[in-house]
Amino acid sequence: MAVRGQKGPSALRSAERFVAEYVDERIEDEPVVLEEVDPSEGTSPPEDWDSHAHEDDEDVWEGVETSAAASKSSFEAARGKARSINGFSVGPAKRIGVKTYRVPGTKVSLPVRAIIAPLLIGFAKEFHQKVERLRKGWCWGHANRNIRGSKRPSFHAAGIAIDLNAPKHPLGRKGTFSAAQRKTINALCKKYGLRWGGNYRRRKDEMHFEVILPRAKAVALAKRIQKRGAR
Ligand SMILES: [Zn+2]
Repeated sequence: MAVRGQKGPSALRSAERFVAEYVDERIEDEPVVLEEVDPSEGTSPPEDWDSHAHEDDEDVWEGVETSAAASKSSFEAARGKARSINGFSVGPAKRIGVKTYRVPGTKVSLPVRAIIAPLLIGFAKEFHQKVERLRKGWCWGHANRNIRGSKRPSFHAAGIAIDLNAPKHPLGRKGTFSAAQRKTINALCKKYGLRWGGNYRRRKDEMHFEVILPRAKAVALAKRIQKRGAR
C-alpha cells in the first residue's frame, strides 16, 4: 500500500486512506484502559531537551511519503497567536486538555492530550511489552515549548507526542533499535496511527512518536481503540 513520489496535500490524504484501510485489517485486541494519575506523576523533559525539530523533517510515514509542503500545511495559523498542529491547538496542559496517565503494567506516567490518549498510551503499553521495557524518568509527553531557535511549536506542545526511553535513543542517533524492534515499532505505529521519528529521512529521532492523523481521524481512531480494542 506504499504510495511513493506523491507531493503535497494529496499525499497526506493518501496517508489517511492508508490508515483507514489498515484499521479494517487489524485483529481484535484488548481495549486500552486509561488510568489517570496526578500530574505530578508525569515526567517533564529536562530544560535542555527542546532541541527536537521533528516537523522540519520531511514526512516519511509508513511508506507514504509526503512533501515538506504537506508537512507545513499541517501547521495552521489560527486566530491571534494560537497555533495548531494537525488541527490540535498548542498550549498549557490545562487549557488544551492534557491529562496524565499511567502506562498499564509500568511505573511510567505520561501527560498527553486526553482526547487521543488511547493512541499514545496504548502504543506505550505495547512498546513496553514487545519492544523494550519503559524506564521511569526516561519517558516524556506534553511540553508547551517551541522548537529551540524557532517560533514553531513542537508536536509535544499539542500533547500529541511522546518520547520513550529518551536517553537510550537520543536525537540524531541512528540504529538504537534492532531490526526486530524496528519491525515491531513500525507495526505498532500503524496500529495506533502514529509516525515514528526513526523514520525521518534526515535527522533521526528514534525516541519520538507522534500522532500524525488530522484531528477528526485521530479522535475517531482513539475512540474506537478505547471502546473495542485496537483492531
Ligand atoms: Zn519528541
